[in-house]
Amino acid sequence: MTVLVPPVVPLPAETGELRAQVRGFIGAELAAGRFAPRCDSWHAAWDEDFSRRLGARGWLGMTIPVAFGGQGRSALERYVVTEELLAAGAPVAAHWVADRQTAPALLRYGTEQQKQRYLPAIARGECYVGLGLSEPDAGSDLAGVRTRAARVAGGWELTGTKVWTTGAHHAHVLTVLARSGPPDGRNRRAGLSQFLVNLPDPAVRVRPIRLLSGEHHFNEVVLDGVFIPDDMVLGEPGEGWRQVTAELAYERSGPERFLSTFPLLDCLVRQLAEQGAAGRTDAARLGDTVARLWTLRQMSLAVAGALARGDAPEVAAALVKDLGTRLENEVIDVARQLAQVEAAPSAPGLPGLLAGAVMYSPGFTLRGGTNEILRGVVARALGLR
Ligand SMILES: Cc1cc2nc3c(=O)[nH]c(=O)nc-3n(C[C@H](O)[C@H](O)[C@H](O)COP(=O)(O)OP(=O)(O)OC[C@H]3O[C@@H](n4cnc5c(N)ncnc54)[C@H](O)[C@@H]3O)c2cc1C
Repeated sequence: MTVLVPPVVPLPAETGELRAQVRGFIGAELAAGRFAPRCDSWHAAWDEDFSRRLGARGWLGMTIPVAFGGQGRSALERYVVTEELLAAGAPVAAHWVADRQTAPALLRYGTEQQKQRYLPAIARGECYVGLGLSEPDAGSDLAGVRTRAARVAGGWELTGTKVWTTGAHHAHVLTVLARSGPPDGRNRRAGLSQFLVNLPDPAVRVRPIRLLSGEHHFNEVVLDGVFIPDDMVLGEPGEGWRQVTAELAYERSGPERFLSTFPLLDCLVRQLAEQGAAGRTDAARLGDTVARLWTLRQMSLAVAGALARGDAPEVAAALVKDLGTRLENEVIDVARQLAQVEAAPSAPGLPGLLAGAVMYSPGFTLRGGTNEILRGVVARALGLR
């Protein structure tokens, strides 16, 4: 039988104390009114002061070695901190991409100079990164990117348009996937490279793509002949596809793939308990949801353990994201059915959390690779295609 998910790694005992510290910190932040829990806080709640406070406590860049300004702690310790922050709906969007995947990518492929330049700032919560992958005609078909990297004296010139670039209007750096050479015959994955683009740059235009609510998270980013010196290539020219797909395992399996609507579920359970309102059917529905959530957490931990061992668990990561993002959406249905409340943006408690969850839910199964694409990854691993 094909084994798709690696064995679960039990969390080391010392993570219990760390978890308690993070809970204490979150409790103090809430008591001081420094944030209100939000659904999808890792995408929607940008708060640079909060990121800096996390950095000051050593809860960013946790797996970055001390020599580069990090904490030299384990991936599982980072997991514990991350899941506590997400479960609380804390505002973690500012540092999210940099801490989750840019730091590991720099550690793996970056030059000494790039590591020295960016990693300490990421660990302090002071360096934010936008991901320049998707384009108007290349989302799922990432190998079809049309942004060109032309060789020029001393470096490269990037020309093209990226789209859905979350946080690019605040970011200090963009990581850009571009075509730097021709495909190798029919292999379009060859000839792609990754570049680090410092922002702002006069040759980079960042335009908002607003949500219906007017919120500004996404952008269109136009690269108009931006010059990138050779020392800002990330990794090896031509190896962009391999590097980006390795990053995706970090992007697809974390607790953010099943906890985006957890603050809503948490509030719902508390409210029903307080009101003594949950009948047997309601309790069974909640039990079913929480049991599946727990299973997903075990799967996600299994992937985290595999990443920590240096494995590349892309298939298990794809499974976690597919199942997890569907559960995130189901939590909304459960809340609507069990709580007699209307969604109300900006309202405290359940109505506001419900409104946020509904607003952001269309993106859950799209971002980081759509669920249809992920099922293709799983089907291939099962030998079905
Ligand atoms: C909240 C959010 C944040 C995002 N942030 C970023 C970011 O920061 N940086 C970035 O680069 N991108 C970002 N994206 C873009 C995201 O990665 C793309 O939306 C996603 O990869 C899908 O690409 P697309 O939108 O071009 O859809 P398309 O690729 O056009 O797909 C449209 C539909 O067709 C289906 N489909 C396509 N190909 C196949 C196939 N071969 N088999 C079966 N079905 C298929 C897809 O599943 C989808 O349902 C973000 C998206 C969202 C929603």
